[in-house]
Amino acid sequence: MKPFIPQLVYFEPEALHYPLGKELKEKFENMNIEIRETTSHNQVRGIPGENEWQKYRNAKSTLVVGVRRTLKFDTSKPSAEYAIPLATGCMGHCHYCYLQTTLGSKPYIRVYVNLDDIFAQAQKYISERAPEITRFEAACTSDIVGIDHLTHSLKKTIEFIGETEYGRLRFVTKYEHVDHLLDAKHNGKTRFRFSVNSRYVIKNFEPGTSSFEARLQAARKVANAGYPLGFIVAPIYMHDGWEEGYFELFQHLAHQLKGIDLSTVTFELIQHRFTKPAKAVIQKRYPKTKLDLDENKRKYKWGRYGIGKYVYPDDDAMRLEITMRHYIAQFFPGAEVQYFT
Ligand code: SF4
Repeated sequence: MKPFIPQLVYFEPEALHYPLGKELKEKFENMNIEIRETTSHNQVRGIPGENEWQKYRNAKSTLVVGVRRTLKFDTSKPSAEYAIPLATGCMGHCHYCYLQTTLGSKPYIRVYVNLDDIFAQAQKYISERAPEITRFEAACTSDIVGIDHLTHSLKKTIEFIGETEYGRLRFVTKYEHVDHLLDAKHNGKTRFRFSVNSRYVIKNFEPGTSSFEARLQAARKVANAGYPLGFIVAPIYMHDGWEEGYFELFQHLAHQLKGIDLSTVTFELIQHRFTKPAKAVIQKRYPKTKLDLDENKRKYKWGRYGIGKYVYPDDDAMRLEITMRHYIAQFFPGAEVQYFT
C-alpha cells in the first residue's frame, strides 16, 4: 500500500520554533496540502465532515504537528517500563483498536516536534534505573512506523537509544514502510515487532493497514538490517475455524521467513478484549463489523480506573494460550514467548 499522506495538516504555532516543525511545514507546503493553525494539539477544531462518521474518517487523515508538554512516560503495557510519546493516533481502521476509546473524540494523528525534550526525559528515566535496562515502547498510542516516513522521529529515537548503554526501544506495526529505518544505527537495541494475525482477522477487522504479505516482506528487511525481530499476535480472536486459521498463520510465517536468523525472535500473545465504552464506540463507527462483542460469552475482569474488560472465560483463554504456544514451538523452536495476556 502507499505510505500515509495526510489530507489536512494543523500546526501549533509553537511547533514552528523547532527544526522538525519548520521542516514539516515546508514539506507539506511543497506537497500542496492544506495547512491550518491550531492553538493546541489537544483541541483541534473544524475538521470537515457533515456528520460524526465523516468527521471521524476525516480526522483519521488529519495530521496535527505540536509540542509535547506532558513528559511523563507512563505505560501499563507488559512489554516495557515506559512509553515514549512520539505520536498519538493512527490512520488505520482496525475495528478492535483500543485507541477508539482512549482517544475518544480526538482520533486525529498528532506528532510532536520537541524531540530533544523527549530524549532528555528518556535519558533521565534510564539514568534513574541504571544499571538495570530500561525499555521504552514507542507504539502505545499510535502505529509510529506508519507515520514515520513523514517525520523520521522514530529513526532519530532508534539512533538515540542505540547510543545509550541501558536503554532499549520497541514498537509494533502493521505497516510496511520501513525502508528509511534500515540504515538507522540501532546497535541491536531496538526490537522491531510486527503485528500478525489469522487471515480472517486481517481481512475482516484491519482495513487501512498493510497486508500480511507486505508486513512479512518488511520483517525480512528489518531482520536483514540486523534488528532483533518480534511478532505480536493480537488480538487473538476465536472466530469460526480459528484453530486452522492460526495454524496457517504460523506455518506461513515460518515459510516466509526462511533463511532469516530467528534465534532471538520473540512472540507476544494478547487475547481479544473489550470494554463497555469501547463496544459502544465500535458499533457506532463500524456498524457492520463482524466483531463479536457479546458480553455473555466473556469473563469480566476488573480493571484499573474502574473500567473492567471482557476477556475470554478461563477455559477458552487457556485453549488459546496452549494452542498458540504449541504452534510456536512447532514452527519456531527456540523462540521466546514473552507473555500471554
Ligand atoms: S494499526 Fe494499530 S493503532 Fe492503528 S488502528 Fe490498527 S490497531 Fe489501532
